Amino acid sequence: MPLLRVDQNGLWCEPGGFHIDPWNPVPKALITHGHSDHARRGAGAFLCAAPSEPVLRSRLGADIALETLTYGERRVIGETTVSFHPAGHVLGSAQIRVEHRGEIWVVSGDYKLAPDATCAPFESVRCHTFVTESTFGLPIYRWPPEAEVAASIHEWWRMNQRRGKASLVFAYPLGKSQRVLAGLDPAVGPIFCHGAIERMNRIYRASGVTLPETLYSGSVARGYDWSKAIVLAPPSAHGSPWMKRFGAVSTGFVSGWMRIRGTRRRRSIDRGFVISDHADWPGLQQAIAATGAGCVLVTHGYRGPLVRWLEEQGKQARALETRFEGERDEGTATSPGEDVAEATEEDAAE
Ligand SMILES: [Zn+2]
Ligand SMILES: [Zn+2]
Repeated sequence: MPLLRVDQNGLWCEPGGFHIDPWNPVPKALITHGHSDHARRGAGAFLCAAPSEPVLRSRLGADIALETLTYGERRVIGETTVSFHPAGHVLGSAQIRVEHRGEIWVVSGDYKLAPDATCAPFESVRCHTFVTESTFGLPIYRWPPEAEVAASIHEWWRMNQRRGKASLVFAYPLGKSQRVLAGLDPAVGPIFCHGAIERMNRIYRASGVTLPETLYSGSVARGYDWSKAIVLAPPSAHGSPWMKRFGAVSTGFVSGWMRIRGTRRRRSIDRGFVISDHADWPGLQQAIAATGAGCVLVTHGYRGPLVRWLEEQGKQARALETRFEGERDEGTATSPGEDVAEATEEDAAE
């Protein structure tokens, strides 16, 4: 019997009596991070890494039964010993290490190796079995250096200012937006955020992450001249009535999917910026190799190519059927996202 397996509710650990990132209500849930495909409502009790607590309380409810462990802290649960280790994905994101009678499994959740000033860096954890995501598990996905992307965002922002257009940037509210913000130079012009992003900014700042000063996009009077401003908004706000107030705009979209030209065309976006909070193809390979795992289970994304590559490396590998999603701001997102609800909420409020 494997230490972890997928049942109808999620990744189930029988010797521990808990699920990891369950998609249905279960008695006990260990949560890797706050994105809505991993952190869902309804568990009887939650356990997460300490820096993830404010994110989960904000998204799942202030009064959920939630306990936390600091990174690296060990807790005996049932017949297992469990600990959380930084995944470098978003604030509080963790890989979950489960040990049972000398056998060690690590569940990655989502992760990246690229540097990110807004969360703890990915930590490599040795294990026998590594459960990995594979959102960008194709050789074409290789991320450019962050500084290069930040420079192109500033260049685009200045060009829009000269042309009298507001710069509207669509990015996922948890993680991606703060990473973009951390790289912005407030000397170029005012930085505004949609309410859904501003809420997350507050949590990041309270957690000690430094972000440039931002203004809530609903805080200025009608008739405000937006032509010098950059405005961050969730992808769901694109094409919504919320956009009308800005007058002439140029739109930019921040996502790993922007590596592929067609994605931008389908979404009718003026500019794509390639920043992802997931590992690229070399990053996946590097992370997997560093675990020393002889067996690799692949949960979501381009699973087939990664499984084949792993088998060529002499590893045992197979795909796991889960309900996790890839980078959720992709053009082909299938489930109603939380950011949609948040955007609608703000539209109504304004
Ligand atoms: Zn995620
Ligand atoms: Zn995910």
